[in-house]
Amino acid sequence: MRMQGKNVIVTGGASGIGLASIERCLEEGASAVIADLEGSEGAVRAAELDGKHGGRCLFKVCDVTDTAQVDRLFEESVAELGSVDAVFNNAGIGGITPSDEVTDEEFLRIIDINLNGVFRVARAALRVMYRQGSGSIVNCASILGMVGQSQTAAYTAAKGGVVNMTRTLGIEAAPKGVRVNGIGPGYIDTPLLAALDEELLQGLIRMHPIGRLGRSEEVANAFLFLASDEASFITGTTLMVDGGFTAGK
Ligand code: NDP
Repeated sequence: MRMQGKNVIVTGGASGIGLASIERCLEEGASAVIADLEGSEGAVRAAELDGKHGGRCLFKVCDVTDTAQVDRLFEESVAELGSVDAVFNNAGIGGITPSDEVTDEEFLRIIDINLNGVFRVARAALRVMYRQGSGSIVNCASILGMVGQSQTAAYTAAKGGVVNMTRTLGIEAAPKGVRVNGIGPGYIDTPLLAALDEELLQGLIRMHPIGRLGRSEEVANAFLFLASDEASFITGTTLMVDGGFTAGK
């Protein structure tokens, strides 16, 4: 029960890695807030999970591109749960387009969700956690924050930005009792991969020395570790959960 009595917010928590993280935190004794877009499965999932393991599971509408919605998410979570002890800054979208064909709109949308959104959520979390004098923020980066990949200019720029922003926030928040870390997943079997054709997917799988896609639960376990007191001397770093992808060939 590593998260007993703790309150956790997961953005993009209605699907994939985020939902698995919500479930693992609840299993470990936490209460949790699924923060996701209006119309997502978040409300249904929260109703299924509320009280199942003892803790509360709430759903809050939160589009991470909207500062007012992000700030309201934290205000309401504190009002209803009393504190916010851990945040998984997980909401994100993919995007594969040749760089000479990417429109301003597509580029800016990916940056606004995957980079600016991470900052908006981290800023709101810091304000609450500084008042508490404690907390753990985990930002979702990617293997593509560490290496490039053809046709993913906006995504790699955003994820690389998340890795370095995590270092800065980790340094800045440490004296106030707040830890900030990142997770860098390899390719994980979630709805995000639905857009990839089978040949591309098989090629990507071969780039993981472990030889398969990762599972959402495997990323959730890394989040749980970084969110918990077990990681009490870890800040500013990004933990790769990538089957060896970034270790080299
Ligand atoms: P999913 O698509 O399964 O989950 C992402 C969730 O975020 C969805 O519920 C999505 O809603 C939601 N979301 C999208 N835009 C916003 C927004 N503006 N505000 C709030 N929520 C939003 O993807 P994954 O679980 O795979 O991805 C989770 C994170 O992991 C992302 O940051 C992704 O970049 C990262 N990652 C994933 C990898 C993978 O291979 N799966 C590899 C490396 C990193 P909707 O479904 O409506 O879009």
